[in-house]
Amino acid sequence: MKLLTIIGARPQFVKAAVTSRALAQVRPDINEVIVHTGQHYDANMSDVFFEELDIPRPRFNLGIGGGTHGQNTGRMIEAIEALLLEERPEQVLVYGDTDSTLAGALAAVKLHIPVGHVEAGLRSFNRAMPEEINRVLTDHVSERLFAPTQTAMANLSREGVDPARTILVGDVMFDAAMHYRERARQPGVAQSRYLEDAGFALCTIHRAENTDNHERLRAILDGLAALPLHVVLPLHPRTRARMQSAGIVAPDRVIVCDPVGYMEMLWLEMNCRIVLTDSGGVQKEAYFHGKPCVTLREETEWTELVEAGVNRLAGADAQRILSAYQALQSADMGTHRNLYGNGDAGECIARLL
Ligand code: UDP
Repeated sequence: MKLLTIIGARPQFVKAAVTSRALAQVRPDINEVIVHTGQHYDANMSDVFFEELDIPRPRFNLGIGGGTHGQNTGRMIEAIEALLLEERPEQVLVYGDTDSTLAGALAAVKLHIPVGHVEAGLRSFNRAMPEEINRVLTDHVSERLFAPTQTAMANLSREGVDPARTILVGDVMFDAAMHYRERARQPGVAQSRYLEDAGFALCTIHRAENTDNHERLRAILDGLAALPLHVVLPLHPRTRARMQSAGIVAPDRVIVCDPVGYMEMLWLEMNCRIVLTDSGGVQKEAYFHGKPCVTLREETEWTELVEAGVNRLAGADAQRILSAYQALQSADMGTHRNLYGNGDAGECIARLL
């Protein structure tokens, strides 16, 4: 059976690595063809993941990135449709909530090729987020919905999705965190005795609602400056560009570096005191590695973490960021296990395809 996997952005490389490995192990009958849309193209946002996570090289790279949402999605649909007509796969697999996800799903479903959606059913209930639109639409045209959590299953059920199409498999990012943790590597940015002795916080910022609004971005950095420890901030290219154009400079104790590879990110997550992020994946990874998380948004798709008391929503408000940091000092990280499955989500998906 020929399966076309469509990916294009950093979190999708991590997720696809898990399924690709499982496919190679338990489904030798499946011929997986990987297509990279080109949505993320910097070496440290793309190539490093293929090298470190042993993802098979993409057979095709569409080279589509850098445009607006409409431009990217439109150009991707056109290019993916042409590829599907040429390759004629029996199934298509898409991941998460980016423009590559939606474009892949739409191109395939219109050619009557069944689509599997990994990380189905997530909702922020904030339709101003481009990711939310991508998720809702992808879920409703997909044939197989691989949900990571019970909350995601409930969301799909509420939207009237046929239960025969949905299945709770657990979270492939949990599989990844467990599988690769032994390969975690200390990045250069953390090799300072000062950081090692005093401990540090880890921060990532890349959501459009934060990067494209100077006031929010400034408020987040003010919040980081108010914390009583150093903060390591691997900076997403979009955030760096917005900070430069707005003349925003990182505060003294915030140590800015380029995006790091997955193994270095693992090390930072495993060795920091606390995580502050607007990323979906990094919120969960904080939990996987036993670290509390301040979420720099007004809502989260991973509500079970908030309910478990290990994640607090602080928006982009310096005072709320500091208060959340303080409140999380006494968070109980030891209980609430197995929120994200048993580490075999990739294998479940591979068997079900
Ligand atoms: N990540 C990484 N290096 C970084 C920042 C993030 O390897 O400098 C990884 C992170 O560990 C996680 C994934 O990228 O596995 C999350 O991607 P991102 O935050 O871009 O997207 P989101 O999860 O918000 O969709």
